[in-house]
Formats: sequence, structure tokens, C-alpha cells
Amino acid sequence: MRIAVVGTGYVGLVTGSCFADLGNQVICVDVDRKKIKGLQKGVVPIFEPGLEEVVHRNMGKRLTFTTDLGKAVQQSDFIFIAVSTPPGKDGEADITNVKAVARGIAKNINRYKIIINKSTVPIGMGDVVTQIIIKNGPKDVTFDVVSNPEFLREGSAVTDLLRPDRVVIGATRRSAAQKVAEIYKPLNSPIVITDLKSAEMIKYASNAFLATKISFINEIANLCDAVGADVRQVAKGMAYDPRIGGQFLNAGLGFGGSCFPKDVSALVKIGQKNHSSFRILPQVMDVNQRQRQLFLEKIRRVVGPLEGKVFAVWGLSFKPNTDDMREAPSLTIVPALVKAKARVRVYDPVAMEKSHGLFKRIKFAKNPYEAAQGADAVLILTEWNEFKQVDLKKLKGMMKHAVVIDGRNMYSNEELSDEGFAYYGMGRGEVLDFG
Ligand code: NAD
Repeated sequence: MRIAVVGTGYVGLVTGSCFADLGNQVICVDVDRKKIKGLQKGVVPIFEPGLEEVVHRNMGKRLTFTTDLGKAVQQSDFIFIAVSTPPGKDGEADITNVKAVARGIAKNINRYKIIINKSTVPIGMGDVVTQIIIKNGPKDVTFDVVSNPEFLREGSAVTDLLRPDRVVIGATRRSAAQKVAEIYKPLNSPIVITDLKSAEMIKYASNAFLATKISFINEIANLCDAVGADVRQVAKGMAYDPRIGGQFLNAGLGFGGSCFPKDVSALVKIGQKNHSSFRILPQVMDVNQRQRQLFLEKIRRVVGPLEGKVFAVWGLSFKPNTDDMREAPSLTIVPALVKAKARVRVYDPVAMEKSHGLFKRIKFAKNPYEAAQGADAVLILTEWNEFKQVDLKKLKGMMKHAVVIDGRNMYSNEELSDEGFAYYGMGRGEVLDFG
């Protein structure tokens, strides 16, 4: 099939290259000339396990890159929109990019096409795209607009795209949805066909539900700290109940990234606009923000005043296996430490390059040990596997005080206390009174 994918970010590039890997002819489009120039030479601009291999395997054969939207539209039968929909004013989703692409499609549409929206957009956006094309496009060309929200996770995006739990396709005409379903057929995943608006809602409802689960377990963790229970054991006991399930029950610094914070805020706005305000979701956001403040509070209680203290920060990206820094807890915690006149050395296995320019007055270390040299405490902000593999004896030998404050509950108390560390996790029954 001939497919255009507009937007070559985390979603677009993974989608385009994986569709090419399935044997389709794919042309990827972006307005970012530098990115496209790099991709034409095989430079993959993001860190995503397995992505470089898929891109290189298909480049020049079934996968090409361009900034020319017109060319891509004209030569394709399916046009996927995968551009960014960042948070706009008051948390509302900014749909400027999607509208721009819709106008570009209208200008260049030359025969029947299916336009598939993969960007996360407010409910009703499918109709907006349809109207833009009707208004700006030729009168004698027909098309269908389909919603196909994406559920891939950064860090495992290639696997997620090729082995999705489900593929959701929303359309006004079932025949259009079925044609899109053909693209996904080789994946043998369940395909859920719905109307347009329900598909758009499924994406927001799924992300908001998962965010709620995280904030819920974080509040349980805070109570665990207060009463002396261990949230890891609590979550394990809860997870055996199939109605609850074990995923997204890891207490810690809360959710970040480009999706959960913005999608929850956008859904809150959609609720308000439609006179159906959410009560629960603003609290989910509040709890998430508070989690970072509680972590800072915990650091203060463990090490005392922050001024002059030396901290090794392990992990900057919002989660492991990605270099994405959007809404990462490190963006709140590191500047707060610096503001309190602490000395901060940071290390992240892949997000160092993207972090330059995001932080002021910190040192970037080459490895976890260099960051920990002479430190009063190690602060774990992202649960990279590499941090589980450190030599604890060596680490202890180089720190001023053997203290680990683990915002991601990577370690068990025993592992670290056996090596002589003072260890503090999240909700691990430390009975630190937060008032
Ligand atoms: P991204 O910021 O990584 O990439 C978006 C790309 O779109 C950029 O390369 C940008 O240059 C390009 N772009 C913007 N306007 C354009 C235009 N008019 N024409 C062509 N290209 C344009 O974003 P992303 O993380 O890939 O997310 C894309 C969409 O998918 C968003 O709506 C997001 O909410 C959704 N989504 C993201 C994820 C994720 O994990 N990142 C998962 C599911 C859904």
C-alpha cells in the first residue's frame, strides 16, 4: 500500500518505518528540514530501541523522507497525520499543526484518499479535518477521515507498534475503517472498529485512566510512609486481583513525558467545554505535581539543609529507555536543588545530549560513579537498568555519605542496607512525617 506519514517524531517515525517493514511503500514528511536531511542520510534523531535498525533496513527501498507534503499526498492512498499536539493555553490541546496538515492535504488531494489521524486530538477533530478539506479542497474529489489513535510507549515503541494490544479505528464509513484495518492485518492484533468520536475518546480515556492509577498508588505510597507499610508489598498484594492488575502500580515520582500530563489536562478542558467537568482528573494532576515536592521534602528530611550539599542525580529522562525529557520529574527536582544552593552532578545513560540547555549550574558526569564522587546522597530519578548494575561497594567507597534516596523504588531495603547504605524509597514505611 502507498502510505504517507506526516510528522516524523516518536509516533510518526516509528509508524512510518514499521509500516515500511511490513512491505508498504512509505513516504515520511516533516516541516523540520534538519530532521528530514538527517533522516535522508540515515541519522535517526531520537533514541528508541530497535528503531535505527528498522529505518536502515527499509531506507531507500520502501521508506523515503521529504519536506514536500504535496508530493507525499499525491502519491499516497493513505495519509497518516502524526504531528505534535502540544499543550496550548490553559492545558487545552493545541491543534494548530493538525489543521495546517489538513489544509495542506486539501491543497494537494488529487484523487480518493483516506486521511487517518494518529495524533491525539480533542473529540470532534475528525469532523474539523473533514470540514477543512471540504472547504479548501477540490469539489470533485472524495475522501474519508479516520481516527486511529496510537498507544505505543516511548522506550518500547517499535515492539508496541508491531505487537499492539489492540488497534482502534474510528470512522464514519465502515468501509474506510476496514481499508485501514488491512494495513494492520499482518500484526494479528485485535481490531476495534468504532465511530470517529468514540475512537478519539478511547485514547484520552485510556491515558487518563492510567494516570489515575499512578496517582492513586502514589497516594497509597505516601500513606505507607506515614504508617510504616511498604507500598511495594501492598501493590504486589493488590496485583493478584485481576480486576486491578499489576501494571502501573509502581509508586514513585509520578508520571511525565509528552502524553499523560498533556492528555489529562486536555481531557479536563474538553470536559469543561462540554459542561461535563471532571472532578477526579484535576486531583490526579495535583497528586502528580505534589509527588515531586514530597521527594524534595524527603531529601531535606534525610540530609538536612540543602545548601552546600552534593547530590548525584541518576536519571534525567521521564522514564527509562528513552531520551525524552518532556515533563520529566528531573526538570522540577534538579532546579529546586540548585536554587537551594546544593551542588548537583547528573548522569543519564542516553538523555545527556537532550538535557544540555535544560539545566543551569550543574555538572554532567560521564557515569554514575563520577556523579557520586564525594556526594552526600545519590538521588534516583529514572529507573534505568544500568543503576541496578552498579558495584555498591565501589559506590560506597567514593561517596561522602552512603545515602541513596530512590524516587523509583529500584532497590529493596535489604540490598542497600546490607552494603551499609542508608536507603530511602517511596512509600517504603520510613515513617517520615510530612504533616
Ligand atoms: P513529536 O514532537 O516527537 O513529533 C511531532 C513531529 O511533527 C515533529 O517532528 C514536528 O516537526 C512535526 N510537525 C509539526 N507540525 C508539522 C506539520 N505541519 N507538518 C509536518 N510535520 C509537522 O511528537 P510525538 O511524540 O510523535 O507525538 C505525535 C502525536 O502522537 C501527538 O498528538 C501525541 O500526543 C501522540 N502520541 C504520542 C505518543 C508518544 O509516546 N510520544 C504516544 C501516543 C500518541
